Amino acid sequence: MLPVRRSRPSSALCALFAAAALLAAISVHAQTEPPTITTFETRVIAASDLPWNGAAPATHGLRLTLVVLRETPWDADSVLAAMKRMAPLFVPCGVRIIAAELRALDAPPRFRDYATQVSRELARRVPVPRPAIYFVADTLNRPAFDAEAIGRANSGQRPELADTVWVAAGTRDLHVVLAHELAHVLMDSGAHSGEPANLMRGETTPENTRLTAAQCARLRATAVRNGLLTPLAN
Ligand SMILES: [Zn+2]
Repeated sequence: MLPVRRSRPSSALCALFAAAALLAAISVHAQTEPPTITTFETRVIAASDLPWNGAAPATHGLRLTLVVLRETPWDADSVLAAMKRMAPLFVPCGVRIIAAELRALDAPPRFRDYATQVSRELARRVPVPRPAIYFVADTLNRPAFDAEAIGRANSGQRPELADTVWVAAGTRDLHVVLAHELAHVLMDSGAHSGEPANLMRGETTPENTRLTAAQCARLRATAVRNGLLTPLAN
């Protein structure tokens, strides 16, 4: 959902090579054992590690899955730090992250970038609770986005990717990007806002962090309906 800010090879030729490599990989793997994908590490973060600083009690709880591909520039500590910086941006909506699970996966190199068909395979072979944020090395999709959110409305041809976010290494203002993309998923909407300082502006900056009451209402209602958010008893 965000324009590319970094230089990447982006020729049509590159995409053709990627498509050819994908077809070759599919034909090889149809005849042989699929490559192993294993969970290297699992970390569980409890609500007590995610302090709530809202003036009123949280009304809705979010359980988040973070998937880190090993042998990419990402590491578990920096991903968790970004998640903790992201959490306060949902406080105005009454949404608290009540649990998070980080899984670090050892996977063959082709799974370390976001590429729709290969990433569908990864999501299918290693099912994780949703919403889930995947931290990958780069994207091979064109147009290339630093981060991409797939909700229900835009996952028709790729159902394995519903309710996921894919983030490439090197993404700036990471905590804001995570909140922006996660909000797309929770609202099941790719819509952007023109309001000043709004989190859902097309351009992600450290100043664009606000969510309006109407956005929060939509986020809560849609995410509850889709089983991504739980009303909390207060
Ligand atoms: Zn967006």
